[in-house]
Amino acid sequence: MESKHEGGCFCGAIRYCGTGSPKRVSACSCRWCQGRTGSVLGVSVYFDKADVVFLQGEPTVFSLTSDAGRWIKTKFCPTCGTTVGWTLEFLPDFHGFAGGTFDDPSFWGDPQRYVFARNKPTWLSVSDHIEMLAAMAGPPAD
Ligand SMILES: [Zn+2]
Ligand SMILES: [Zn+2]
Repeated sequence: MESKHEGGCFCGAIRYCGTGSPKRVSACSCRWCQGRTGSVLGVSVYFDKADVVFLQGEPTVFSLTSDAGRWIKTKFCPTCGTTVGWTLEFLPDFHGFAGGTFDDPSFWGDPQRYVFARNKPTWLSVSDHIEMLAAMAGPPAD
């Protein structure tokens, strides 16, 4: 039986579940992650789309275009405003979740990479085992 990782928005209206292990976990300081979180970095936890279900509620979808000209569709709670997840033209087989919205935000461990590290705040130190990429990461190898 594969592990199930549930999460949701702050008010509880939106609930989701990702099954199995995340395919990619990234910290990111791009301007979009800063905007969607209201913080200086976001943690993006990606599952295969086929392993993602929304259990409760209907997230509102907001579409925007990245600096690279590709679409990003953000899913957020219409009541409390939490961005719980998104899909990206850049990673068509994946569904992303905001790392802090899981019921257990520690299960995903350490991010594999820090993307848009050129925007990393100077006061933040990152462990040596986390790959630092100045800007965008390439498509996953696996
Ligand atoms: Zn909510
Ligand atoms: Zn980002």
